[in-house]
Amino acid sequence: MKKLTVFLTIINSFSMLGQSDWCGANDIENNFYSEVFTKVNQRASKESFTDLEKFVLKVYFYDVNETDGTNNTVLSEIEALDIIAYLNKNFNAFNVFFKYEGISNLNKSEFLIIDEGPDNGSEEAVFVNYLDSTLGTHELGAINIYSVEEINGAAAYFKPQPEGKFGTIVIPHYRIDTHYIMAHEVGHFFSLRHVFFTGLNNSSVENVTRFESSIHFNADTNGDRIVDTNAAPEGMAWWPDDCTYRSYGATDPVGFPYDYQGLEPPVKNFMSYAHGCQQEFTIGQIAVMRGYIEYMKDNPDGLTLIANNPVSILYEPFKGEYYLAGPNVTKPPLFQYGFDYEFVDCSQAEVYNQPSDYSDISFWYGGVLESYDVDYDSPIPHNNHTAIRILQLNNPQPRKCYNNNNLSPNGGKIIHFLDGVLNTNVNIIPKDSDEINSENLIEELNSGLYSIYKNYNDGRVEQKTILKKQ
Ligand SMILES: [Zn+2]
Repeated sequence: MKKLTVFLTIINSFSMLGQSDWCGANDIENNFYSEVFTKVNQRASKESFTDLEKFVLKVYFYDVNETDGTNNTVLSEIEALDIIAYLNKNFNAFNVFFKYEGISNLNKSEFLIIDEGPDNGSEEAVFVNYLDSTLGTHELGAINIYSVEEINGAAAYFKPQPEGKFGTIVIPHYRIDTHYIMAHEVGHFFSLRHVFFTGLNNSSVENVTRFESSIHFNADTNGDRIVDTNAAPEGMAWWPDDCTYRSYGATDPVGFPYDYQGLEPPVKNFMSYAHGCQQEFTIGQIAVMRGYIEYMKDNPDGLTLIANNPVSILYEPFKGEYYLAGPNVTKPPLFQYGFDYEFVDCSQAEVYNQPSDYSDISFWYGGVLESYDVDYDSPIPHNNHTAIRILQLNNPQPRKCYNNNNLSPNGGKIIHFLDGVLNTNVNIIPKDSDEINSENLIEELNSGLYSIYKNYNDGRVEQKTILKKQ
């Protein structure tokens, strides 16, 4: 049985102009990943990814605070939702989706500021070891993002946990809206290396040539092992105004210049270190990320990490409630943004006081009443009498028809006649809207004589008296 072991390796110091060590990702060098790289067809077509199974990953956020719960750098819900939207925009094209699961607090002063170091003794290692061993500080099978005050020595930090049970991303709060960092770290989660990876003691330097017939061709085995990301020197510099490679005449180990026309290093790649320029994954990288997902599914040790979630979770609000007895909605059900949403009319469907089940596609629906495009940037309400379509899921069937006619009682009470006759020796039990609408309302009563009162929004009160026998 294979294990996903993680080697804590020294990230070489990037002292050359234009680049600093801002990621702090531990490299992962073992056969577990090698198999993924050797099996994957890196020359797949872009279209081929849309046929793959949809992979839905949950993302949990943790706001690291002082031990007493105070915090100068509070992580907001909008900041977290912005990250989710950015990830979806950059990963949906190859059928990888992210679901926001909320923000928890992690009150530990010692982890507010993390001094990144080169080995297991560093504070980042102390932090991730603490996360590994402490229940309630992480969610399995998901990406966990920790907002701290500062990481000295890195812009962010990534570590897949032992045996791939969950992914950890640590980022200082002041970089939380630098979204390309997050795409880069999630790229690591799906096994991508830095484009300038050289291996321990330069054991894996990638040559510039892309001619497979060349004796110097090693793009499939060295560096990031991605054939369509050009070779990049360690400490790669770039021109920030147009995001092009800034050459200092460097050559690869066989003397070929990195700035050879058409083979320049991939400054704009998410897995480079070119601050502000990262914006894309290549087909080869996408193929490897998808290959990693497929490989982990087939590997018993990978099952937890790759705990696939049903697409239906994307149709669940991240917060709010569907009221039984509207219309006094103060906490509407809200959806994460970053998809193209259509809300279609389902007012002529049968009554669904709570949204229809995801698998129920029997309801009537009509045209689009509201739509939000992928760049809409506020939480999106699911209004009454509509069903949801998410265009990125490429499924024309709307789901979750919420068609509440506000005819359910909004509360009420049960009067228990303690003597078993209608007199004033009673016990009065108030009921809220959930309780009064419960299917088990009568079933849960003990034997006895009761009056049940149901209050409606239009002022009506329905009363009935029952004799409950066991
Ligand atoms: Zn990195």
